[in-house]
Amino acid sequence: MSAFDTDVIVVGGGGAALAAASAAAQMGRRVILLEKSPQLGGSTAWSVGSVSATQTPHQKKLGIEDHPDYHWEDMKLFSGPLASRDNFDLARVLADNTPKMFEWLLSTGLEFIGPLPEPPHRLARMHNVLPNSRAFPYLLGRHCRSLGVEIRLNSAVSGLIRQTPQGAVIGVTVKSNNGPTQKLTARLGVVLACGDYSGGRELKAQYGSELIAAVDAINVYNTGDGIRMGMDCGSPILNGDHIRGPILRFIPPKKAHWVQQLPPLPVITRLMHWGFDRLPKKWLRPLLLSYLTTALAPEKAIYDSGAILVDLDGLRFTNECDLPARRAAIRPQGMAHMVFDHTVAEKYQAWPHYISTAPSVGYAYVNDYRRNRKDIFHCAPTIRELAHQMNVSAGALEATIHAYNSGEDQAEAPARGLRPPIITPPFYALGPAKAYIIFTNGGLKVSHQLEVLNDKNVPIPGLYAAGANGQGGMLLEGHGHHLGWAFVSGRIAGRQAALFERPSE
Ligand SMILES: Cc1cc2nc3c(=O)[nH]c(=O)nc-3n(C[C@H](O)[C@H](O)[C@H](O)COP(=O)(O)OP(=O)(O)OC[C@H]3O[C@@H](n4cnc5c(N)ncnc54)[C@H](O)[C@@H]3O)c2cc1C
Repeated sequence: MSAFDTDVIVVGGGGAALAAASAAAQMGRRVILLEKSPQLGGSTAWSVGSVSATQTPHQKKLGIEDHPDYHWEDMKLFSGPLASRDNFDLARVLADNTPKMFEWLLSTGLEFIGPLPEPPHRLARMHNVLPNSRAFPYLLGRHCRSLGVEIRLNSAVSGLIRQTPQGAVIGVTVKSNNGPTQKLTARLGVVLACGDYSGGRELKAQYGSELIAAVDAINVYNTGDGIRMGMDCGSPILNGDHIRGPILRFIPPKKAHWVQQLPPLPVITRLMHWGFDRLPKKWLRPLLLSYLTTALAPEKAIYDSGAILVDLDGLRFTNECDLPARRAAIRPQGMAHMVFDHTVAEKYQAWPHYISTAPSVGYAYVNDYRRNRKDIFHCAPTIRELAHQMNVSAGALEATIHAYNSGEDQAEAPARGLRPPIITPPFYALGPAKAYIIFTNGGLKVSHQLEVLNDKNVPIPGLYAAGANGQGGMLLEGHGHHLGWAFVSGRIAGRQAALFERPSE
């Protein structure tokens, strides 16, 4: 009988943790996975569900000859002026391991559509999970359980146990179901995969600002616990100030569409995939877009085209083309409506002019919102009637649009300059959207084997980090790289933790 509670402990229950638990269990190890919240999924289950991947069966079917080398080269194009801060060395690990990772996702029963184009990727690489990102915890959780992984929900890890103060990590302290704090020990490694600090006030204030600290996170459970535990062991946080948000996201609907309540069973998603390949897109789009319910972000380009933002009082409050969510975050309830006219609405009906990315179909246009998000879609022949639909003061909205069209400076917003006026009826509004912190990119320093490194690049024995915890200074710009990294790094960290041999102390 082993003196240890298990072989490998995985902290977290999102994409990286499930990948790590699966990899360690596939090597015959006993694995306990500890998830703080009442369910698996984390931000992985909140995501749009796009994964950028190469050499996939989807690409091959379309005759696309892709290669990890091209993927890696193209990733550099996304970083733009931030390239000098990015960790392209680690991005190589992502690009090289993505084809196998994607194969593994498919083997668990996950279905994807695509690939869709996303320049500057030179080839179409964006694959979108069916029917939505909740399929990840559903199917990966089922896969892990089938391998014997013990999944404990409502189990918040608060610290790491080390053999000696500077020695190997041999376990964690955990509080399950609000009971007393307990110790749990691992014969081999511990994998930190408990997400970013988008919901962590202290880390956001320390690496961002007080304003950022005050903005809500989409995923409130991600308070940066893994990052803090790694830092306590001496690992530096890299690119801690690189925080995605505040960003405006349309608020999710109060009631989920019936299609969305279907379980993401392979029999259903395979049928959807079959249909997607064979049926006319105009038939399928309404069905797939019934999933247009996660917190989706409007694209910035629509402001350049002439849309404005007004707060819940109907007032314009910012230069929409310059980080508008920062100002929206401090308006009433942190919310705003996007207002535009028919000219803009007509433009945003087809690629490349989309309102937001969207689960399953890649991109969503004005008519997609009209059909599928009636709760946030408003259209009326006059500004007055539009205001009534939006539940904002008609007088205030009329005055706002009048001042904007006249080219006047407004109290807190600059004149429209070269942007077109809002004059062609009918008039439209989308909202409210709320300012959120979506994710943070600061990660612990890691090796290519996902060992957590101290500031002298020495591995902390027995400690591994994956996903957001093990982001290692990568910025993962472009769609589909964060999820890719969660799964790739999880699989590597899980394998390495399962192979770890503790040095005698
Ligand atoms: C709205 C939204 C849309 C996105 N869309 C995309 C997309 O389409 N493509 C893409 O590539 N990326 C996307 N991302 C980013 C991507 O979802 C994340 O980067 C990725 O899921 C991180 O995976 P993870 O496993 O590291 O963390 P998570 O999936 O967040 O999992 C971390 C888990 O750890 C748990 N946890 C936290 N603290 C503890 C603790 N102390 N003890 C135990 N458990 C703990 C949390 O409850 C959570 O379940 C999106 C993110 C958001 C929020």
